[in-house]
Amino acid sequence: MKTERITIKDRLCPQDEELMKAAEILKKGGLVAFPTETVYGLGANALDEEAAKRIYAAKGRPSDNPLIAHIADRAGLEPLVACVPEAGRKLMEAFWPGPLTMIFPKSSRVPYGTTGGLDTVAVRMPSDPVANRLIALAGVPVAAPSANTSGRPSPTTADHVWEDMNGRIEMIIDGGPVGIGVESTIVDVTGEVPMLLRPGAITMEMLRELLGEVEIDPAIVGPMSPDAHPKAPGMKYRHYAPKADMTLVEGKPEAMAAEICRLARKSMEEGRNVGIICTEETRHWYPEELLSALKVRSMGMREKEETIAHNLYAVLREFDETEVDCIFCEAFPSTELGQAIMNRLTKAAGHKIIKV
Ligand code: AMP
Ligand code: MG
Repeated sequence: MKTERITIKDRLCPQDEELMKAAEILKKGGLVAFPTETVYGLGANALDEEAAKRIYAAKGRPSDNPLIAHIADRAGLEPLVACVPEAGRKLMEAFWPGPLTMIFPKSSRVPYGTTGGLDTVAVRMPSDPVANRLIALAGVPVAAPSANTSGRPSPTTADHVWEDMNGRIEMIIDGGPVGIGVESTIVDVTGEVPMLLRPGAITMEMLRELLGEVEIDPAIVGPMSPDAHPKAPGMKYRHYAPKADMTLVEGKPEAMAAEICRLARKSMEEGRNVGIICTEETRHWYPEELLSALKVRSMGMREKEETIAHNLYAVLREFDETEVDCIFCEAFPSTELGQAIMNRLTKAAGHKIIKV
């Protein structure tokens, strides 16, 4: 299949003419990748089981990993859900449109092909103007998982999408780099107490401030045993895996850098190609001779964690393009946005963490 690529002139103010063809493709059961405020999504009509199947095929995604239905406005929610619990109503008012997905009891209109066989449905209203207008023009809810091949880091630019999806889908809409860089926060509002299933830019602190009590799915915190059942089925897969073997090192900046230097030297002696992921604030703790001998990337500024989230997947993808076969990466405090950052890094590292 030939994949068409279009570029939006002004991503804050996309014109309907630019998005019309993409909307037609979605209506007819085709696949279109598009930017959202979190990561690039791979869209298909969420009410069309055959279209949903094509998403799984293009990504190589296991079919028990359900899709998130994206809507353009509040009116889009009602046909998808059996009811809207009180916590869901509050969250919607506070954070929609935005990087928050909620799990609701599903209505009969949503096919099991979209929900991975579950009786619940995940719904999000994106704030990105391109995503939002495209969904409105398509006139259907749009199932849109991250537009990467399953097991690769999520795409944060149209080039990342092109690497994974060229030849597999009808169209890629280039709206420039995304804003946030990590996937949406997921909250299950179907139970007595709302439960965080995946951390994101809407942080646990923000959720608790609004709702009071919020539980956290154990799958977020520790490694999963093989027979465990996380509430978000996708959390059991090693989603964000770079090609190289990755280890996280946790501790105070100076001690962390010292341990990474020690580990890097040891691995080099063993003949491995070593990479290091650091930050602007810690870079100076690494000796110049090591920095020049190795592939070293800064992910951003600890002081501004949104820069770390923004660059995280691009840095991991960049390492995939190199011969590096082991990466040592600095850890972050697991509070606020750091919780989402650490969740992605921990998974990329297959839960290999060294504490100093
Ligand atoms: P992605 O779209 O690739 O960011 O992944 C979507 C995430 O949402 C996966 O982790 C899914 O398991 C989760 N998800 C989607 N629908 C549901 C649902 N009905 N219940 C629980 N988790 C869901
Ligand atoms: Mg994904």
